[in-house]
Amino acid sequence: MMNIALFGPPGAGKGTQAKELSKYYNIPHISTGDILRYNVREGTELGLEAKVYMDKGELVPDDVLIGLIRNRLTESDCDIGYLLDGYPRTIPQADALTDILDRINKPLDAVINIEVNDEELVKRLSGRRSCACGESYHIMFNPPEKEGICNACGAKLYQRDDDREDVIRQRLAVYNEKTKPLIEYYEDADVLVNVNGADDVDAVFKAICNTMDQFK
Ligand code: ADP
Ligand code: ADP
Ligand code: ZN
Repeated sequence: MMNIALFGPPGAGKGTQAKELSKYYNIPHISTGDILRYNVREGTELGLEAKVYMDKGELVPDDVLIGLIRNRLTESDCDIGYLLDGYPRTIPQADALTDILDRINKPLDAVINIEVNDEELVKRLSGRRSCACGESYHIMFNPPEKEGICNACGAKLYQRDDDREDVIRQRLAVYNEKTKPLIEYYEDADVLVNVNGADDVDAVFKAICNTMDQFK
């Protein structure tokens, strides 16, 4: 059983890595961003509430995320472990997670912190192209085989509303204020592992595998 959280600022490469790691280790990829965007597309009550925050680059309220992640982690596919992507993002979310994981007896093995500097993050986010299936590409750094089309599912790629320059800056500010303190939080819990996220996708993948292999 592997119980892992991928951590890092917006654009660090969490989604890109998580997609590959989930296939490689055969554990479920739980992306709160993907779940929220799915709900926005479907127009659910959750989606309608979340969209207001997401469009502004703000975090969706903790109680909403905590309920969502509790439900997701207690689904049966998580019996073999999980790969969290985009959760937790605040101290209250992390405290709630510890509680949930204690109760289901699946404590975190590692929190993998993907480190990338702000200038590179802005480049990555402003060139990102996304697919509804959860895949993401980059117009320069990781282009799809056919321009504008998802390799994985053939759907048309789109640019996320929150991947515009002004919203990107806001998301990075929110990260620094609310999410970054979790680095120390998980350092203190002795589960934090830093990975250099500035390398190319394959090198970052290998670095993460070095850590995850210990928990196979
Ligand atoms: P990125 O991968 O670029 O960091 P995500 O897809 O993880 O973006 O998240 C997109 C948006 O969804 C966030 O800006 C936020 O509004 C919302 N969101 C996702 N996860 C969380 C969370 N754990 N807590 C609060 N809001 C979240
Ligand atoms: P996150 O989920 O952390 O917000 P993504 O995985 O969506 O980040 O990656 C953000 C953007 O950067 C995407 O356009 C992706 O194709 C690109 N990207 C991801 N990893 C790398 C990398 N190692 N080098 C260059 N670009 C990358
Ligand atoms: Zn796709």
